Amino acid sequence: MAFEGLTSRLQKAFRDLSGKGHVSKSDLRKTMRQIRLALLDADVNFDVVRKFVRQVQDKAVGANVLEGLNPSQQIVKIVDEELTKTMGTKAVPLNKAKTIPTVIMMVGLQGAGKTTTAGKLALRLKTAHKAHPLMIAADVYRPAAVDQLVQVGQQIKVPVFQMGTHHDPVDIVKAGLAQAHRDHNNYVIIDTAGRLQIDTKLMNELKRIKALAKPNEILLTVDAMTGQNAVKTAKGFNDALDITGVALTKLDGDTRGGAALSIRAVTHKPIKFVGEGEKLQDLDIFHPDRMASRILG
Ligand code: GDP
Repeated sequence: MAFEGLTSRLQKAFRDLSGKGHVSKSDLRKTMRQIRLALLDADVNFDVVRKFVRQVQDKAVGANVLEGLNPSQQIVKIVDEELTKTMGTKAVPLNKAKTIPTVIMMVGLQGAGKTTTAGKLALRLKTAHKAHPLMIAADVYRPAAVDQLVQVGQQIKVPVFQMGTHHDPVDIVKAGLAQAHRDHNNYVIIDTAGRLQIDTKLMNELKRIKALAKPNEILLTVDAMTGQNAVKTAKGFNDALDITGVALTKLDGDTRGGAALSIRAVTHKPIKFVGEGEKLQDLDIFHPDRMASRILG
């Protein structure tokens, strides 16, 4: 289960504290150390952990928790608030174009779940927003990627524009956008190429697509299971493309929590969606407060 280790470590820290009749300064220091180690073991970015613990400590001192009636409960509340804040405080909706179509460019490394998330998003837009999306298959390096998107489109009854794998992705996107205009699709989701690692060639291609398509949303898909690597990936894509949001996948797995807790703080870009399974229905809006409650267990 996601966050399992982090949840039990935090709960233990709070339990140790609530077991005391009187909480001393040194008890509080011990709790802070437990929280810090729990976060580091959950693969949360080092700077994020340092800032987090300092904020909790400052708030605890500011609120005079040691003088209060129930110090441990107050600490739990402060940790809850800080977790929520670290993850962005509020859910951030998808950007929307003033005139249709809203263009969403999906980017990410191979295997992160980009194509699946494109399908999940199309399904969500169709059902929750009564939208008419068009998906564009612009990953020309893996023939299977085009087929995969076409299959996903068939499953959810969303049209997929594709020109096989022998054209420049920029030309494919251009033709796809022209079709969307003709057909009055109000959303366009572009599935771009993923590679095993960030390289200049990949980024240059994505920059060319971005320049042509002028997307309202550049949504980076990252795999929560990869912890700090997910954060590095997010930073790399953001530096090159100025992404607008993140879809964090595989939160149904036993991820430790590092990615969910670090991405916003490191990139200053919101996590907008979480993937919680392989099925196309398994996409949720990311709510920082609910995620904080889930982490606290
Ligand atoms: P892409 O290479 O980034 O386009 O990745 P795919 O969309 O092909 O996904 C790679 C694998 O991850 C597939 O087996 C997906 O079913 C799986 N996957 C994607 N999102 C999730 C998720 O949220 N949870 C789980 N458990 N698996 C996922």
